[in-house]
Amino acid sequence: MLIETYEIELYTPPWNPGGDRFAARARFAGNISKVLPYLNAILRGAHYVPAMNTLMVKQGELLVAFHPYEIAITDAANHTDAERQLKPWIELVNQTWERRREITPEQSSRPRPTHLAIYKLLPNTNCRQCNELTCYIFATKLMLSLRKLEECKPLFEPAYEEQRAALQDLISP
Ligand code: SF4
Repeated sequence: MLIETYEIELYTPPWNPGGDRFAARARFAGNISKVLPYLNAILRGAHYVPAMNTLMVKQGELLVAFHPYEIAITDAANHTDAERQLKPWIELVNQTWERRREITPEQSSRPRPTHLAIYKLLPNTNCRQCNELTCYIFATKLMLSLRKLEECKPLFEPAYEEQRAALQDLISP
């Protein structure tokens, strides 16, 4: 078993300062880097970055990030909710490791666009029509798949046609 015990920690995510929802992580002592290529092989749509020992996968509106010593999720109401959401991912790590001889590990990676690359293509007017304080926060949430491009209405004006096309190309799966 790769993860025997773990501790849950809640924290305020940088993309939601002052909000009433939290991000959360399960921290453990063992290094799970060696299971990531196996998870990459079985989780559809996963983004694996071998150089950073990180694998990310989206489940509905939730983003789950696997790091060597922690598994993090982008949204939890409280400690109990975080435990409920993180437990299945911890079990998946352990089960995948036990079944590794049946799985061909996948090393290929497809990096996600950075929030800065996204930010540069937004209108950068901080108009707040998307209900975010700044375009930068919107870009960060877009990178994490917490917002959709359509929610930036100015981007769909003719003046931003080229930027919109570039952004759609950048963030398309
Ligand atoms: S609606 Fe678009 S332009 Fe306005 S703040 Fe949000 S991301 Fe920026």
